[in-house]
Amino acid sequence: MDRLLRLRWFNPLTVLLLSMHGPKRIWFLGIWLNLLLSLAGCERLAWGIEQLADSSRASLPPCVDDNCNCGDFRDQVSAQQVLEAFSADPYDLDRDVNGQACEQLPNAVAALDPAIESSQNIHLRLGNPSNASANNLNNFLIERRQYALSYDHDRGVPNWVSWQLDADWLGEVERQDDFRSDDDLPQGWYPVTPEDYQGSGYDRGHVVPSGDRTANTEDNSATFLMTNIIPQTPENNRGPWRELEEYARNLLNQPDIALYIIAGAYGDRGQIGDGKVTVPSRLWKVIVVLDQPEVGVEGVSIETELIAVDMPNRRILRQNWRSYQTSIDRIEVATGYDLLAHVPEQVQTVIEARESNF
Ligand code: MN
Ligand code: MN
Repeated sequence: MDRLLRLRWFNPLTVLLLSMHGPKRIWFLGIWLNLLLSLAGCERLAWGIEQLADSSRASLPPCVDDNCNCGDFRDQVSAQQVLEAFSADPYDLDRDVNGQACEQLPNAVAALDPAIESSQNIHLRLGNPSNASANNLNNFLIERRQYALSYDHDRGVPNWVSWQLDADWLGEVERQDDFRSDDDLPQGWYPVTPEDYQGSGYDRGHVVPSGDRTANTEDNSATFLMTNIIPQTPENNRGPWRELEEYARNLLNQPDIALYIIAGAYGDRGQIGDGKVTVPSRLWKVIVVLDQPEVGVEGVSIETELIAVDMPNRRILRQNWRSYQTSIDRIEVATGYDLLAHVPEQVQTVIEARESNF
């Protein structure tokens, strides 16, 4: 259904016919032509049509490929940008039709926090996407041996978590299942508890999966700290999100592979746990595949393979994670972060613009 809708809105052929000839008959002809092409399996042609449209979407957040809600945007300015890109307002961002999208959102969020001295933590080798530090309680850096993250005090969830993954992290340890509050949070902060999720309808979704830390019980147990957990729909957590987790781990069956993974959540779908925990509306993940791990970050080049996805935290979604692929640039547009900041600028420019295509 999504695909058909997209064709209808974006197909330049339709627009061309419409602008040249006007009459409704031609408009419908264009729509039906599109439907027929995609139903008849003319993938090539349909693909070509979508690629054309992609050029105009490259600067827009990933939700436009799917379905945007006001809760998907970090500020009113970015919602307005999407509204203006589609005059027909297909996402219903301007319900009172006054030309302003999502007026309930804050106008424009603050710029990134100032950069801090870079950490030697292996999990931050590719950078610290939001310049998280001890200075901002909503962008609060927590570093562990097993992963590093930015925690948001007001939302009660991490903004992002970053972790290196190679065969050394994998072993035979059982899933510990010891969900618990994080004692490392500063004094006086509310420690989110597993019970805050109870009866909410949302899973306690791992950002670093339990399955990525199985070499010993301590490592596995660290993934069950509530600062590594987000409220995630069961359909997402046990669907495409899990499929991608497994796909990534399977890459390690090849010799000499190391992954750098950064994943996070943004947007607002409401609160659970007496307002202590914000339910994010979108989840994203970037996986950098290094085939010369000993070289480290220096090994990231314009040929480096990477996966980038951004998917809705909804109950109804597509099962295949591949259908949620996007570019790093577009995740940066949606989040305001600078991903892969430690990679040379000229390499970032190339690999971040590339649409993930697995
Ligand atoms: Mn999970
Ligand atoms: Mn970047």
